[in-house]
Amino acid sequence: MTPELHRCPTCGASLSLEQLRGTNCPFCHTVFPHHARAVEHAALVNQVMAQQYQQAGYGGPPPQIQAQYGAPPPQPYNPYGNVGNQIEQSLARSAKITAFVLIAIVGMMVLLGAVIAIVFMTQ
Ligand SMILES: [Zn+2]
Repeated sequence: MTPELHRCPTCGASLSLEQLRGTNCPFCHTVFPHHARAVEHAALVNQVMAQQYQQAGYGGPPPQIQAQYGAPPPQPYNPYGNVGNQIEQSLARSAKITAFVLIAIVGMMVLLGAVIAIVFMTQ
């Protein structure tokens, strides 16, 4: 029985569990498919969040209300919307801000790491 799960799918080198938990193969430096999928998934989540943010009513036309027989006449447009929609909008906004702050922090850490690496290399 060959331990397929403990092998690099690109170069076939046998890997320990610790090595598999990393982002790429220590031998051929190919990013692991499961890590690539996680990155893709994160990008997809960000995309969906951005779409929901846009669908929350920024820039798009307001939802159409159609009068029906026997139904009460449509209410005049309320600029403050209903409470549920308001909560959804603020949730989408805070999720967007959280994602932005996370990206900013990661970016700063990467920048800081690069600066530290340059400082140490030039000494
Ligand atoms: Zn490999």
